[in-house]
Amino acid sequence: MSESRVAEVVRHAVDVGALGADQPVAGFIDIEGVRSSVRSLHDAFGPGVLHTFAAKAASLIPVLRLLARDGMGCEVASPGELRIALDAGFDPATIVFDSPAKTREELAQCLELGVAINADNLTELRRIDAMRDDDCASVIGLRVNPQVGTGTIGAMSTATATSKFGVALRDPGAREAVVRAFAERPWLTRLHAHVGSQGCPLELIAEGIAATYRLAEEINATLGRRQITSLDIGGGLPVNFGSDEVTPSYGDYVDALRSAVPELLDGRYALVTEFGRSVLAKNGFIGALVEYTKDAGGRRIAITHAGAQVATRTVLMPEAWPLRVEAYDAKGRAKDGPLLAQDVAGPCCFAGDVVAHARELPELEEGDVVVLRDTGAYYFSTPWAYNSLPYSAVYGFTISDHVRLATVRQAQTLDEIAFSSGLTYADALVTSL
Ligand SMILES: *Cc1c(COP(=O)(O)O)cnc(C)c1O
Repeated sequence: MSESRVAEVVRHAVDVGALGADQPVAGFIDIEGVRSSVRSLHDAFGPGVLHTFAAKAASLIPVLRLLARDGMGCEVASPGELRIALDAGFDPATIVFDSPAKTREELAQCLELGVAINADNLTELRRIDAMRDDDCASVIGLRVNPQVGTGTIGAMSTATATSKFGVALRDPGAREAVVRAFAERPWLTRLHAHVGSQGCPLELIAEGIAATYRLAEEINATLGRRQITSLDIGGGLPVNFGSDEVTPSYGDYVDALRSAVPELLDGRYALVTEFGRSVLAKNGFIGALVEYTKDAGGRRIAITHAGAQVATRTVLMPEAWPLRVEAYDAKGRAKDGPLLAQDVAGPCCFAGDVVAHARELPELEEGDVVVLRDTGAYYFSTPWAYNSLPYSAVYGFTISDHVRLATVRQAQTLDEIAFSSGLTYADALVTSL
């Protein structure tokens, strides 16, 4: 999303009160941008690939419905994500359920609906053995961990030696056990790997997918039949948080895959992908009012309404998740003027609630608006309930001759906060024990 697009939306949001005293923080999603990202994903891989969107990256029903209409499937990893994917209107046959902690009940629900399951481990496969009928429509796969190593953010790297996900392929005896698991189950037809997310270089991801491809070839050769018919290669394309440039692109990713496994895209295996961040991150931003400014220890601090409740990762791991911050005035016009190092802080009551430290920005004042860029995935859609702060409102926008906003989610009300804080059981501890 270009800076001028952001500026137009901020100005409009301030004009109509979507940002201002009554609503001091909101998320915004560029609908034309999302559709164009989905198109570039489809174009890069070519036809015949099921691109599922990782619901956790933007768990908002209207966004999921837009993606479903644009031809994506959905990757879910909890009963809540499955529920919102169904509410969004995804055909169950295009939903993939991945979770390391699937209960028997969740497995039974997927099998009944025909939702695909990627079993995380061999014990889960044994649970499925006991539940699955032969007329079940669910594609069933097994997640493997190719153990190719770690990216720059440990918490985002799922293919380390000791990752909690999948069957660790390089462990003694694991490969043989996986081959046996397929030999014993003719209905087990998919291999799944998700090597990691932000911070993992494309070559590392491609190496993990290459290892998964070689395993599929080995299993099919050992069994003397093409039992594995599809590969789910996960998501994890990193996003550039430093500028408007979309890099790496889906095209770069496909090139990296082609050089690691030239045969991957030749059509012998149906492919499934599970991208999240790369579809949405650069198509969203947060706008927040500056409530006060102050000085402390020689540092200028702007207290805004965007903190850890909407930018949790950035606040808790500032080195790993830096964001671009931009300054607008009370009318929503981009500010210029001399730069001043300022802390851009949030409303939460802990000292670390700062989204940018000593950031050079035009001097912020009360009533200004700050924008946190590239926050369309895993930010406002994944709020943290710290301090009983409300989930922020979220809007989708289009700009043809003028900006149009559509409500995606209303800000959480005080009644909703009270309800989710146990209002129904208010007397529980003073009367019923
Ligand atoms: C989180 C996750 C994804 C999406 O990762 P992104 O980095 O958002 O593309 C895909 N698959 C699995 C299994 C995941 O856990």
